[in-house]
This record gives sequence, structure tokens and C-alpha cells, in this order.
Amino acid sequence: MTNCNRFTCLRCSDCCYFSEIREMPILLPHEVYYYKILAKHMGVKLEFNRLESGLYKWVIRGYCPFYDSSTRSCRIHGEKPLACRMFPLLLDISENKLMVSSLCSWVKRCLERVKSTSNLESAALVFPGEYEALLELLTVLYGGESVIAVAIRDSNIDSLLKAISSECTVIKTTKSSVVEDLYLILLSNCTSDFVEKTIDPNSLEFLIEEKLARE
Ligand code: SF4
Ligand code: SF4
Repeated sequence: MTNCNRFTCLRCSDCCYFSEIREMPILLPHEVYYYKILAKHMGVKLEFNRLESGLYKWVIRGYCPFYDSSTRSCRIHGEKPLACRMFPLLLDISENKLMVSSLCSWVKRCLERVKSTSNLESAALVFPGEYEALLELLTVLYGGESVIAVAIRDSNIDSLLKAISSECTVIKTTKSSVVEDLYLILLSNCTSDFVEKTIDPNSLEFLIEEKLARE
């Protein structure tokens, strides 16, 4: 019997299979760059369409290229896109509206519980992990300061983070489980000039200043 009190993924994999474009994930620009690095390393092909907002529609036909059918799991689970981490929560940026996907198997089984999530507070109770990912997305989209995303390949991350954090706020650091010594770092409250000067150019994969819905 399904526990409808709090969202628990049933691992049905339905959200990793895409047949319609409207269901496909929307990614931030730095995510597109980042997943291209992982894809190259893993020998898979990715396709993206740039949207007017500056965000990207990830075009996936059938199962996601990162989906492992033998284990029925995501091969990049620890570093999957925010859209996947948030699911079944969906953010309609044009309408500024939070929704819950009716395609999710847990949602289908627990509709009454989902209907009770009429505000952000109740959504945070029913979908705690997914809500956290939503907050991260909102920080990048609407945070007061522009967010800088940096990907580096560096085995000495601690000293680099120490140098960067002398001027920047480190929002998040993610270590890749796929590519050795690859880190994705989200920063705010500093300039890309400072970050560029602080990082060894040989270890820099990309540096992007996210400027999206705030423009
Ligand atoms: S990245 Fe992972 S969770 Fe997201 S659609 Fe692909 S396999 Fe599924
Ligand atoms: S559709 Fe829902 S229950 Fe199924 S794997 Fe995705 S998040 Fe989990």
C-alpha cells in the first residue's frame, strides 16, 4: 500500500521516458554545458533547444540517455538536473505557478494528498527534497545577485573554494560521480572577473553568469 503522507518515489521510471515535447525537462544554461561534459564522457548524445527565456528544452525521445534500463535507475542520480530533482513538482515560469505533475505514479495514487498542497508550506511538507531543489532553482532564477556557475576539474578543490569564498558566496558545490575531479560550483555576490582570476585556466571547463528571467 502506498504511503500518501509524504512523497516517496515508487521507482516506476515513468518520469525518465518521454513521448511528448511538453513533458521534456527544462534546463538552466549551465546545466546544458555541464551535462554535455558528462555525456561526452559517457558516450551519449544530448539534444537541446534554446527557448526565448534563455532556458533550454532537453529533447529526449523515449528513455533518457542517462537512464540505465538494466538497473532501472538514473546513471547520474547524484548530479541530475534540477528539473529531475524537483519532479513531480513543476514550475511554470511564464505564469509563476507551482504545479504537481499528474504523470507521476505516486501522484496518481495519492491525488487527495496532493490536492491538500495548496500553498508552498504544505508542498514543502509533502515534497521536502523536491521543494529544496525548487528553492535552488528559484535562487538561480530570481536571486537578488546574479549567479555564476563554474565547472572545474581540480583535485585540490578545498584550497580553491577557500580562495573563491574570500569574495563570493558559495551557494552549492557538486562533485561529479561520473567524471573524475569534476566539480560544479554555484556562486553569488561576486564578479566573474574575480572568479576567472582565481581559477587556474587549465582546470576551468566553463564559467557562465546566469541571466534569465531577471533580465
Ligand atoms: S537525468 Fe536521470 S532522473 Fe532525469 S530523466 Fe534522465 S535518467 Fe531520469
Ligand atoms: S514517475 Fe514519480 S514515482 Fe515514478 S519514478 Fe518518477 S518520481 Fe518516482
